[in-house]
Amino acid sequence: MKLSRIPGVFCLIALFSLPAWPAAPPSVTLFVDASSAPRKIFHATLKIPASAGDLTLYYPKWIPGEHAPDGPVVDLAGLKFYAGGKLLKWRRDLLDGFTIHVDVPAGENEVNAELDFLSPAVFEGGFSAGSSATDKMAVISWNQVLLYPKGWKADELTYTASLKLPANWKYGTPLPIASTSERNGETEIKFQPAPLNTLVDSPVITGEFLKVVKLADDPLTEMDIAADSAAALDAPQEVWDHYRNLVEQAQKLFGAHHYRDYHFLLSLSDHVAHFGLEHHESDDSRVGERGLVDENDRKLEATLLPHEYVHSWNGKYRRPADLATPDYQQPMQDDLLWVYEGLTNYLGTVLAARSGLLTAEQSRDDLALTAAALDHTPGRTWRNLQDTADAAPELYFAPQAWHSWRRGVDFYDEDTLNWLWVDVIIRQQSKGAKSIDDFCHLFHGAPSTGPALKTYTFDDVVNALNQIVPYDWRGFWTERLTNHGPGAPLGGIEGSGWKVAYDESPSEMDRGIGEHFIDAAYSLGLELRDDGGIIDTTEGMPAALAGIGPGMKLVAVNGRQYSPDVLRAALKAGKGGTGSLDLLVENTDYFKTYKIDYHGGERYPHLVRDESKPDLLTEIYKAK
Ligand SMILES: [Zn+2]
Repeated sequence: MKLSRIPGVFCLIALFSLPAWPAAPPSVTLFVDASSAPRKIFHATLKIPASAGDLTLYYPKWIPGEHAPDGPVVDLAGLKFYAGGKLLKWRRDLLDGFTIHVDVPAGENEVNAELDFLSPAVFEGGFSAGSSATDKMAVISWNQVLLYPKGWKADELTYTASLKLPANWKYGTPLPIASTSERNGETEIKFQPAPLNTLVDSPVITGEFLKVVKLADDPLTEMDIAADSAAALDAPQEVWDHYRNLVEQAQKLFGAHHYRDYHFLLSLSDHVAHFGLEHHESDDSRVGERGLVDENDRKLEATLLPHEYVHSWNGKYRRPADLATPDYQQPMQDDLLWVYEGLTNYLGTVLAARSGLLTAEQSRDDLALTAAALDHTPGRTWRNLQDTADAAPELYFAPQAWHSWRRGVDFYDEDTLNWLWVDVIIRQQSKGAKSIDDFCHLFHGAPSTGPALKTYTFDDVVNALNQIVPYDWRGFWTERLTNHGPGAPLGGIEGSGWKVAYDESPSEMDRGIGEHFIDAAYSLGLELRDDGGIIDTTEGMPAALAGIGPGMKLVAVNGRQYSPDVLRAALKAGKGGTGSLDLLVENTDYFKTYKIDYHGGERYPHLVRDESKPDLLTEIYKAK
């Protein structure tokens, strides 16, 4: 068979020969029953317009913001299709596991689908497909509980969704609501009809303990926080003040917004996967149960909400053209994640400082840790920064072992350094008249809109930077993305009047991380858990040179049973000496002592002031 090459002719033939196919994009009805959320199973039913023959349905595969084909299709169960009261035959596509073909009999114009989503029963990481439900709360990601028909873009398909919650659970969501009803304490929410891309972009947080905190009025900006206990919601006043500052500082940074209203959907649980995901009008951020009430936890997670909030501008409104796919089936291309994630990460750290979520000193400590880790990443000798973005769909799922040699999704942290460098160059070239804020106003700012999408390419980024200050931005970014070191890009830190230095006292931020993680990365090239399990060793540094590798376990130090304090004391005692550091290590049931010739003591990174240059970093971190 050969189709006509003239589109008009084909269309006419198609119209006259297949009159049953809906001419307008179909409108789908979706009902999700989340009343069994504590059992971690979600039931859904859909009514999908159809015509006789093959109805091809997709389960969302490429999840926006996750930059990978990681839709949890393995957890799709209970799949059944009916038409006219009869059970229909279906088969999975042999070339794509996310594609389902349903055999629709003659005379039918609608298919009823049933499906279950099996949320992880045992704790699992893994972004939105990771653990998302507990006895007391759940996050509902619509992409996990629906199918959509082939042949239309996500913004052409209309979904009318409704949702049933467990008894006495409250909820928060940016998705506009048509009505709510209640029976036996169970709330059922009917949402206004929405395009599929808006639905998938608008998760629901729900739980027994749910607190709503208003942060701003125009447009309405609020936190909808669900927790595993009432006590977890009882944060000190300064927390809410800092998040109010965050909204104010973000408006000043961008000068406009691109949402109708914005909801910070925050999960506080030790039993949900910890991560953050961005949407136009909300985030989906998940931290531990004590994430708001514990001062140390607050400090370590301080940049999470700023990062996800920035994405409403950088990632959702302005998005690389290759990431703006028409549906969830077409592959995304991740080559511009150094803007999408890298710039977001930099601006997230800036806003954390400007809003008071971190002090300037804590922000500098954080930056020092970022710079030190990247400066001890020998993997850059073979994999450049661009390749960490190109390979992101795989690297997001890489183990921690061999991180420093494999490299990970370094376009977050390394581009924090690179965009700081851009900010510093703008300030230097304009003699202090301009900054990254001007770039954000131009690239992400006015006029304010509802959720909108404006795509860009590498050239658009270079051109916008040149509108702020003329400079060889193309050359700058090409070098930053393709060089092989040596070492991390420290031009931004150094240009901002600071230097990375190492001493024997871990910084406040370093100590904060250190609860379950021992940082001997810059002394021995060894990262381990407090039980002695070795997370990674850095190629070329003392532990690796002695023969130690990730996955082994440190048992004893100089003949004494290992503990973090024993290791630290041995490093201290050996400083400037001549004797070896003897590490007894278990590897696959065998024990061996490795002798390490290291006498440098403990080494922890800090930023120290370079008085020969103006202090731009303090200016960058100052509230506007
Ligand atoms: Zn991000």
